[in-house]
Amino acid sequence: MRKFFIAGNWKMNKTYDEAVQLAAAVQQRAVNEKKINIGVFVPAPYLRELAMASPDLIVGAQNLYWENAGAFTGEVSPPMLRSLGVSWTLIGHSERRALFGETDEEVNKKAIAALKHCISPIVCVGETLGEREKKTTLDIIGKQVKEAFYNIPADVAATVTLAYEPVWAIGTGKTATPEDAEEVHAYIRMILASLYSTEVSRTIRILYGGSVKPSNAASLLKMKNIDGALIGGASLNKDDFISICDTALTIEKGE
Ligand code: PEP
Repeated sequence: MRKFFIAGNWKMNKTYDEAVQLAAAVQQRAVNEKKINIGVFVPAPYLRELAMASPDLIVGAQNLYWENAGAFTGEVSPPMLRSLGVSWTLIGHSERRALFGETDEEVNKKAIAALKHCISPIVCVGETLGEREKKTTLDIIGKQVKEAFYNIPADVAATVTLAYEPVWAIGTGKTATPEDAEEVHAYIRMILASLYSTEVSRTIRILYGGSVKPSNAASLLKMKNIDGALIGGASLNKDDFISICDTALTIEKGE
């Protein structure tokens, strides 16, 4: 059975003091929590301190670079993250793709580099509004998933988490209906089964992201193939984020 994973993406938000306070509140909620995973993906300067102060939380990076070291000004490498005690990262968030030109090929290079250093990636995929309107959502998602997993063997693929985040739903207040999200999640699982095996496809968690908030979390998390949430805006408010964690705990699923 796949455990729910409730992950907050803080993006470029919070001063140092605010970050410490928010992480402490979420850590408090995560103490002794065995049924679900709770994580926060925080700005790079805060990683070390928050990872050390939050033993019950997954504290992850929002990005990494695929080289180990060298003349790559501004980038952070997998060995650097490991040396901070960090073993999770987001990869290919739609803001990285849209604002920083990240391609599917680069997402794949980052995923391979992360896995090589035992850093578990949450790989983000999602279609734009134009692509949804043209009814090419499944083609786009299929391509993004296949390219992200290119040259990744089955045993390590099983440790990857995916996040389906329709670009038009991120930070807009618009959410995919649970049925629309479920259709894409089920399709992703089918692609994973074709790339690897049914067993691997059943192991990989697929989170939904896009304006998840306390009022819509339950209806999304109840869907068969939705294994958690990647949350932007609502993760910046401790009460909202904790409420979504509590909602996840109330939901029982067969698989
Ligand atoms: C995100 O940044 O991954 C996200 C889903 O943001 P929001 O919840 O604000 O839509």
